Amino acid sequence: MQDRFGRRIDYLRISVTDKCNLRCKYCMPPGGVERIPHGEVLSLEELARITGIMAGLGIRSVRFTGGEPLVRKNLVRLMEAVHELENIREIAVTTNGVLLEEQLPGLMEAGLTSANISLDTVDPRTFREITGADACGKVLAAIEKCAASGVRTKINCVPCREWNAGELAEVAALAKRLPVDVRFIELMPVGCGRQFHGMPSEEVLEELVSAYGPARPLKDGKKRGNGPAQYYEFEDFIGKIGFISPMSHKFCGECNRIRLTAEGRLKLCLQYNAGVELKPLLRNGAADEEIRAAILEAVEQKPMHHDFEQMKTDCPAEDSDSRKMVQIGG
Ligand code: SAM
Ligand code: SF4
Repeated sequence: MQDRFGRRIDYLRISVTDKCNLRCKYCMPPGGVERIPHGEVLSLEELARITGIMAGLGIRSVRFTGGEPLVRKNLVRLMEAVHELENIREIAVTTNGVLLEEQLPGLMEAGLTSANISLDTVDPRTFREITGADACGKVLAAIEKCAASGVRTKINCVPCREWNAGELAEVAALAKRLPVDVRFIELMPVGCGRQFHGMPSEEVLEELVSAYGPARPLKDGKKRGNGPAQYYEFEDFIGKIGFISPMSHKFCGECNRIRLTAEGRLKLCLQYNAGVELKPLLRNGAADEEIRAAILEAVEQKPMHHDFEQMKTDCPAEDSDSRKMVQIGG
């Protein structure tokens, strides 16, 4: 599948639930979000059907996200169904890691190939400040287990001046002692993220260089997997350090992804509302061919790039999505 700018779309991120067991300040409003009524969330069968159609259109990589994907009951059933699709090469999950240790064996059996675990600090007090929960130890245990399991393990950390600015070298140290990549992601002004102050990747890199010595960019410039991260090697580190810099270095020209929300909206860009509601088609007896046509037509309309710089102002573009990150899935 290609959009009108010739970008090949082969990566689907599915938000399987809007529920979450944490309350990260930059993602979830303090009072939570208005919950989607149970019947409005796509069933596992509906999600499997859409993924099957998308696999026929060229999707090769599927990532389950949320809210917190591991709170969705029977996620493994969906994963098994996706694993059976001939063209799917990667099945990944983005998780806060709280439930990962206990669920990992089942997820691996169902075909999990890669896990991104979000962790902004290794300090239990800061963890509590950011997420509202005492679960830092649980997440660290899950990271160790996942790293030892053979599932490709990446840590996602969002540097924020308000809480973890002085603790980034310690998060990076996970890649020194474990076979995991640690990636620093620039805070995006989506939903609650607009209230806080992220840090540019270059500043974080400088901090790591003063802690660990010179960093060598990966040979081919950046590629490691199919994502937008720029990777570096540090002396004596087992894993790599990556930077995802949507604010300081837009990578929209290489964007290969589309998103499906828990209630069945196919979203084409993290910022904009552009997309199509697939649920009415699913629930009104549409044939696969009809759904395929709706997806192709929507993908044609994928915006050329985000305008996050402009989101930081008081009047974001009218067609910006008002969903919070917890409702989109990152
Ligand atoms: N609950 C799962 C988790 O935390 O990994 C999956 C959903 S969460 C929305 C996905 C990712 O988005 C997390 O790594 C989180 O840190 C990141 N995120 C949330 N809000 C963000 C923002 N405003 N800017 C950048 N990343 C954000
Ligand atoms: Fe939940 Fe993930 Fe958002 Fe934190 S970042 S509130 S864990 S969805």
